[in-house]
Amino acid sequence: MNIQTLSQKFGVNVETEESGFPTFVQRVKGKRVLVLTDAKTHPMSQKIVSLIQKAGEAVEFSYPEEEPIADEKTVNAALAAATDCDYLLAVGAGTLNDICKRAGYLLHKPCGVFATAPSMDGFTSGVTPLIEGGFKITREAQVVSDVLLDYSILAAAPRMMIGAGVGDILAKYCCLTDWRISSYLTGEEYNEAAANLMYETVEACAESVPALTRGEEGGVQKLMEALLISGYAMVVAGNSRPASGAEHHISHFLEMDFLKRGEKIPLHGVKVGLGTLVSLYLYHTLPSRPAFDGCEKVYAEAQKLPSVEWAENILASLGCPTKFSELRIPRETIRRMFFEAYKIRDRFTILTLYCQKGFMADTAEELLARFY
Ligand SMILES: [Zn+2]
Repeated sequence: MNIQTLSQKFGVNVETEESGFPTFVQRVKGKRVLVLTDAKTHPMSQKIVSLIQKAGEAVEFSYPEEEPIADEKTVNAALAAATDCDYLLAVGAGTLNDICKRAGYLLHKPCGVFATAPSMDGFTSGVTPLIEGGFKITREAQVVSDVLLDYSILAAAPRMMIGAGVGDILAKYCCLTDWRISSYLTGEEYNEAAANLMYETVEACAESVPALTRGEEGGVQKLMEALLISGYAMVVAGNSRPASGAEHHISHFLEMDFLKRGEKIPLHGVKVGLGTLVSLYLYHTLPSRPAFDGCEKVYAEAQKLPSVEWAENILASLGCPTKFSELRIPRETIRRMFFEAYKIRDRFTILTLYCQKGFMADTAEELLARFY
């Protein structure tokens, strides 16, 4: 099933530039459309703005920053700009889409995204991470009606943003394994349909990595499809299990630390990519730790995972860090993270297993030597 047909099943219209975005144009006919950009994406919005002008009216609002953050202030600015608008369109990737979906939700208005980088898997999700009072909080959001794709723009995104998207996809090998071992060890419900949907698209994306590293549009297309389908897999599962495991807990732990220090937060997928390396290492070295009840099943799952080196090479080839020190985080923070990140939410993962079985005491130094 192609991405358009699959998306329709989830109520999302995915269109590409070559088609001229007919469904979107029809939707905004005679309407006032808020076009939300920032200093970086504003230059990429001109084509879509003139297309909207032909069908209805485009109201442009651009954040002056190159990298605004999704918080109460930016959401409020979008709400104010959206007065009298019928539809909200973000031209951007993670942050602008987050702001737009939240504003659309609060105003009960449809929204969409013209994607400028394949950097994370939140395009089609119904929640949005926001920073409120210095904390990251997940809030409800409007699911986008339209995802507009121009592969020449997506393929020209900065390499590290593409690498971040790949990190968010490679992570799914570990998310799915975390979910499966939790079903064995804790009896958690496992949704085969959601897991298969996720797994197939991750495999297709992994196969296209060589094309991606060559900057070919075909590679970016497979990546973008995987990022969109990740959102659908979460809908099928009814939660974020198919797309978020230990590596996302690591990313969230780091994010809170950056927030506390008031420093610029690295891209979501970059942190998730590092977390994925840690997860893969923990799985592959598990058989060298003491045995436990049910361990054989977990070892068997670990054997199906790709190697740490494979993931490391892919991330490095796309300009992403493969050591935590590259993000300039103190060594002590990373050590604490290995022991504490699993507490971020009540979800059983490979990190929970290591920490609860007492394996982390002997493993933390190995991890620091390998990944710091
Ligand atoms: Zn993610």
